[in-house]
Amino acid sequence: MTPDPLNRLVAQLAKLPGVGEKTAQRLALHILRSPPEYARELSATIQEVVEKVKLCANCFSLTEQELCGICRDERRDERVLCVVEGLPDLMAVERTREFKGRYHVLHGVLSPLEGIGPDQLRIKELLARLESGRVEEVIVATNPDVEGEATSLYLTRLLKPMGVKVTRIAQGVPMGGDLEFADQATLARALSARREL
Ligand SMILES: [Zn+2]
Repeated sequence: MTPDPLNRLVAQLAKLPGVGEKTAQRLALHILRSPPEYARELSATIQEVVEKVKLCANCFSLTEQELCGICRDERRDERVLCVVEGLPDLMAVERTREFKGRYHVLHGVLSPLEGIGPDQLRIKELLARLESGRVEEVIVATNPDVEGEATSLYLTRLLKPMGVKVTRIAQGVPMGGDLEFADQATLARALSARREL
């Protein structure tokens, strides 16, 4: 019943993460009903992003140049590296405005079940950065789940012998949270990562 090009658009949109068949259909119809300039702009922007945006040669976040804005920013402390799983995590840390160091994006976490080992992550590149000798502290900011913890442990074992200070972001009870409702693992973690006041 539906014209072929529309079916193809729905099929393409449905490949996006979190977009099911129904949402894809709604998006496709929305694009179709919008002024033609919108569709032209959308496809041109997608094309441009794919052609121009690449990984930073140093930290592997995104950039239009050889190095990203953070790596080029002289005011950022190159002695402290925050290691994150992916770009959304980097953006989350940046939003806090608390961190003035630099980053290293792993692009994943160790997951033997999914066949993701150290070679699939940007770990070799991290070691190379540490060999420069300017980095004094590595903050491991992987997620507090099974893979994130395994990755953190792996990195700690690898980095500590290099004479660099390895720290892990603290985890615990969320702001506005209630001890009574915190799960066991979260509360245990909060207790073990306690600090003196
Ligand atoms: Zn960078």
